[in-house]
Amino acid sequence: MAKSLMIVDDSATMRKIIMRTVRMSGLEFDRTEEAGNGKEALDKLQGDPVDIVLCDINMPEMSGSEMVKEARKLDCCKETKIVMVSTESGQDMIDGLMADGANGYITKPFTPEKFQEKLTPLMN
Ligand SMILES: [Mg+2]
Repeated sequence: MAKSLMIVDDSATMRKIIMRTVRMSGLEFDRTEEAGNGKEALDKLQGDPVDIVLCDINMPEMSGSEMVKEARKLDCCKETKIVMVSTESGQDMIDGLMADGANGYITKPFTPEKFQEKLTPLMN
């Protein structure tokens, strides 16, 4: 079944790179959205939810860690799979994000294979 994706990152260049890597991974989405921070993402998701969110951590206005916590309180986002994409790689921080409701973690720099490996199990 066709899935929808949102890429959340404060860098427009990084959003493009992520989008291109997702395409190269062979994963197919029928709709892709973008947002520049957690707040913008939640605003958009409340109007039009998606299946999978790829989410940066360090962003202005609302960070990815705050966004995960807020998203889990919203009806629109209870089932949404949220996968963090960040250069941050401390295990304690990753454990904290997963405890807060994140569904996965991809570290930058990433590869199409990594996206395929981490996202395929979430797309059923
Ligand atoms: Mg950032």
